[in-house]
Amino acid sequence: MSHPSFDLTGVTAAVTGASRGIGLAMADALAGAGADVIAVASSPFLRDSPAERAVTAHGRAFTGLHADFSDVAAVSALGDRLADAGITVLVNNAGTIERAPAAVHPVESWNRVLAVDLTSHFVLTQKVGARMLDKGYGKVIFTASLLSFQGGINVPGYAAAKSGIAGLTHALSNEWVGQGVTVNAIAPGYIATDNTQALQDDPDRSRSILDRIPAGRWGRPADLGGATVFLASPASDYVSGVVLPVDGGWLAR
Ligand code: NAP
Repeated sequence: MSHPSFDLTGVTAAVTGASRGIGLAMADALAGAGADVIAVASSPFLRDSPAERAVTAHGRAFTGLHADFSDVAAVSALGDRLADAGITVLVNNAGTIERAPAAVHPVESWNRVLAVDLTSHFVLTQKVGARMLDKGYGKVIFTASLLSFQGGINVPGYAAAKSGIAGLTHALSNEWVGQGVTVNAIAPGYIATDNTQALQDDPDRSRSILDRIPAGRWGRPADLGGATVFLASPASDYVSGVVLPVDGGWLAR
């Protein structure tokens, strides 16, 4: 039985990092709930891309846009375009990761990860959020991480950026929820995507991660779909400032 407050018919949602992995699954889930989707990635979407196929298979409209999130000016221009598109849902999911031990972690890696995973999300959300505030309604969803709560290994820039995403979620929620714009984050556990390929390829790390996941398996991108639709829909209108783990029980252990 469906529940009307999860229905996204007539809504336009923008999803960054929608070319593959978690963002692709989020776009698929939002379209499945009725939303038209504007997908964003670092380079142009080719005709008949996986994202376009996923969205149109649900009978929903697909638009592909691109911007390199290490270029804050390009992200600012993207923000103007998304604001003009009148989107109701903004999913800030694009992200990168660079691995090197902290003692030798190149500052260039640190700067790139902070720009792509944190600063660009702030710039984009400022632009789009301002328009949502004018309308008095909107849904902002960030993709956080277990490293919004924990430190990880060999990824100090990523841990700092994702901890920053948790702080930004709280800060924007405090200012915006009273004006009808909810701001939440989803913290995926270990999900099998390109982002975690190095861990999946390392038999020791892969096994030790699996052994610690109470659900007994790595996550799949589609595991994020339900939380995304919930936080995008009227069902969550009184939920804001939350960083919701979707992690197979990892954090509770
Ligand atoms: P992924 O498969 O590597 O996908 C990353 C997405 O981000 C792609 O769509 C990519 O677009 C986009 N992106 C990367 N760098 C970009 C840039 N400079 N400018 C614009 N777009 C860029 O990784 P994923 O696992 O799905 O990650 C999605 C989000 O989930 C990220 O924020 C990540 O930190 C977070 N996350 C992942 C896990 C996990 O276990 N996988 C866990 C916690 C959090 P292109 O295809 O154009 O490069």
